[in-house]
Amino acid sequence: MYSIKILNIFMLNFRSIKINTIYRNTYKGGTKMIDEFQGKYGFLSNFYDSEIEIEYDGLKFESVEAAYQAQKCMRRSEKEKFTKLNPSESKRLGRKVYLRPDWNKIKAGIMYELVKIKFTTHEDLKEKLLETGDQELIEGNWWHDNFFGKCTCLECKKKEQRNELGKILMKVRKEIQNN
Ligand SMILES: [Zn+2]
Repeated sequence: MYSIKILNIFMLNFRSIKINTIYRNTYKGGTKMIDEFQGKYGFLSNFYDSEIEIEYDGLKFESVEAAYQAQKCMRRSEKEKFTKLNPSESKRLGRKVYLRPDWNKIKAGIMYELVKIKFTTHEDLKEKLLETGDQELIEGNWWHDNFFGKCTCLECKKKEQRNELGKILMKVRKEIQNN
């Protein structure tokens, strides 16, 4: 009786692990990859904001997204507004600000710095990033961002898709691995 109960629990766990794996990971050409930063892999997203602090240029933000959007501004007083915003609010405000003129040239570099801060100052996130091993990381999205990610819509699939955030995450992972 007892052993059947244990076996049942075991089978249930096993099944959910299996479903989870199939659901979250896809295989392409034999290489395992993570192509959406949601659920189990939500911590890879710039929108991840559960109990993290990103300190950059003397200001403290609640997510990489907020810190990143703030850097679009020239003035400190404007950047400060982002310290109190959640990721969605930051993204919205980031669309309205007066963009610093060199933004397109520096944005990927700033993203790299912020992602590096995120994964080197939070031990739990560092561990989780390392647990992804050598899987390819792709920021699959539906909002047509083909610079930092790869949009999955049919139109975007025909375009150049750079996946810069995925590349930054893999670069940071490699740097932590080699450290
Ligand atoms: Zn698209």
